[in-house]
Amino acid sequence: MQLRQSPVADRDVRSVVILGATGSIGRSTAEIIAGAGGAFRVEAIAGGRDPQALARLARELGAKFAALADPRGYAELKEALAGTSIEPAAGEEAVVAAALRPSDIVMGAIAGTAGVKPTFAALSAGRTVALANKECLVCAGAPFMHQAAASGTRLLPVDSEHNAIFQSMGEASLDTIEMITLTASGGPFWTWPSEAIAKATPKQALAHPNWSMGPKISVDSAGLMNKGLEVIEAHYLFGIEAARLDVIVHAQSVVHGLVAFTDGSVTAGLAAPDMKVPIAYCLSFPKRSATAARRLDLTTVGRLTFERPDFDRFPALRVAIAALRTGGGLPTVLNAANEIAVEAFLKRLISFYEIAQMVEQACNTALADGVAHEPESVADALAMDQAVRERSRFVLARQAASRARVQ
Ligand code: NAD
Ligand code: MG
Repeated sequence: MQLRQSPVADRDVRSVVILGATGSIGRSTAEIIAGAGGAFRVEAIAGGRDPQALARLARELGAKFAALADPRGYAELKEALAGTSIEPAAGEEAVVAAALRPSDIVMGAIAGTAGVKPTFAALSAGRTVALANKECLVCAGAPFMHQAAASGTRLLPVDSEHNAIFQSMGEASLDTIEMITLTASGGPFWTWPSEAIAKATPKQALAHPNWSMGPKISVDSAGLMNKGLEVIEAHYLFGIEAARLDVIVHAQSVVHGLVAFTDGSVTAGLAAPDMKVPIAYCLSFPKRSATAARRLDLTTVGRLTFERPDFDRFPALRVAIAALRTGGGLPTVLNAANEIAVEAFLKRLISFYEIAQMVEQACNTALADGVAHEPESVADALAMDQAVRERSRFVLARQAASRARVQ
């Protein structure tokens, strides 16, 4: 598609930092920037473990600084960037340094809790953050929102549901909102009986019908845990309690979020299921810019369906909503246990339903131990996160040992 673009004056060029640049959201962000006719300039990018992919992207985008989280990849990154003026760096601190480079907007697109520290650093330095990395808010929602308010900065939601809700809310005050609804596609197992879901393989869980995403969020989506994480994300982002947050299953992924007002009006955000739409919205906010993202043609879609979620076949959603309703530090506990459980499922150490079981068990243990207070700071949240990870790994090792004894 040919886009109409006018030349961008230097002072209007936005500088961007992309955290998680080599991932699914990161690459879509890079594509939008490359097609934006000079409207953006990339200051820095950061990635996890692949020095070659990071170096390639840094060259393509003309970034000034490229940070790899894994320090073992430094020599390879340096070599791959030789002959350019791009500064290589590696290690956890290098990712934070990337987040702190001067910029107009930081795209937070690291997967999982690994994104908490660098994204929080960007927020604390007063940067506008486009947030895809929902685990930041599930792990440390209160500290993030307090910091955003203290820094006088914005967290713009990239997650498609929250982006649609953000656009649908406009300037409405919370007391005029009756209900916020997030839609869920239902994922690859929506039509499966529970016996089949119980035996699902990582390959089946990774095959999402509507979206192409990184491995962790794909597994989260298959069990509707992703929707549970998103309800928690919406709670912190919009400052609204669990009772006014609803989930409905909408297989076509066309209506992403709805806001029902106290006068009976409902506004909704629609778009083709293409993450480039919310990414472009955040990068250009409060303006809009043309993109080549997929267009929505309702007559081609034909029929839109809406159903209630099934908590029996998808217990992860129930567990996540219960964690939010109980409050305190349970969202932090849920997030940490889920990351370990998803990792174990992907390594075929546990079955699909054992993900939700492990997470629920971690929440119950935290409640029984009386340690699940709401984290007061990011350090507090990360300490809680670490303790839950250690405990979850211990539970996994004990399970593996008892299975080995039975065999
Ligand atoms: P992904 O696995 O494709 O990419 C993750 C990125 O993070 C990669 O670049 C990886 O190298 C990088 N990374 C990992 N550990 C790192 C570390 N310690 N420091 C720096 N970088 C690190 O994941 P994704 O699908 O792009 O998702 C990213 C985030 O966006 C997740 O939180 C996900 O829930 C959220 N999200 C994704 C989508 C989507 O469509 N993919 C939609 C909504 C929200
Ligand atoms: Mg989403």
